Amino acid sequence: MRRLFLRETRAKVRQGVQVLGLVGTCGAKPRATGVRLRTESGSEEDLLADLIVDASGRNTHADAWLRQIGVPPPATQRVDAKAGYASRFYKAPRAQSGRGRCGGRACGSSGSRRRCRAAR
Ligand SMILES: Cc1cc2nc3c(=O)[nH]c(=O)nc-3n(C[C@H](O)[C@H](O)[C@H](O)COP(=O)(O)OP(=O)(O)OC[C@H]3O[C@@H](n4cnc5c(N)ncnc54)[C@H](O)[C@@H]3O)c2cc1C
Repeated sequence: MRRLFLRETRAKVRQGVQVLGLVGTCGAKPRATGVRLRTESGSEEDLLADLIVDASGRNTHADAWLRQIGVPPPATQRVDAKAGYASRFYKAPRAQSGRGRCGGRACGSSGSRRRCRAAR
């Protein structure tokens, strides 16, 4: 997508810059007119724009930045998808490590053949 975007548009990508906040006009109807950047060299710069899209992810500072220039942040709606993550570490029994799933020699003995097939 990135390659396509850069090929099909006249857009430029600025890498290694950090958005510090918004710049805007004050008054009865304050509005954002750009963003303040910290550039690659560490200096600050205002980048003016007609359209500003916040794509900074879930830790976005957009609400605070809007307030700083006198613009009330938009109402937000949170949807709890009730999704969760779980992870766990397992340690393989010593008999199985490095000898395949059936533990080598035990595989051929008649007593363990059924267990062996089940493990496959
Ligand atoms: C551990 C983990 C596992 C996940 N696994 C999956 C998965 O398997 N499948 C799935 O679909 N989703 C998964 N997700 C969710 C997925 O990563 C996010 O939904 C997705 O990355 C959100 O994309 P985004 O572009 O909105 O934000 P992000 O991917 O967070 O991108 C935001 C970008 O903005 C940049 N940025 C932020 N602030 C600034 C700033 N001030 N100035 C300049 N740049 C800034 C960041 O550096 C970052 O590059 C996972 C998330 C986590 C944390």
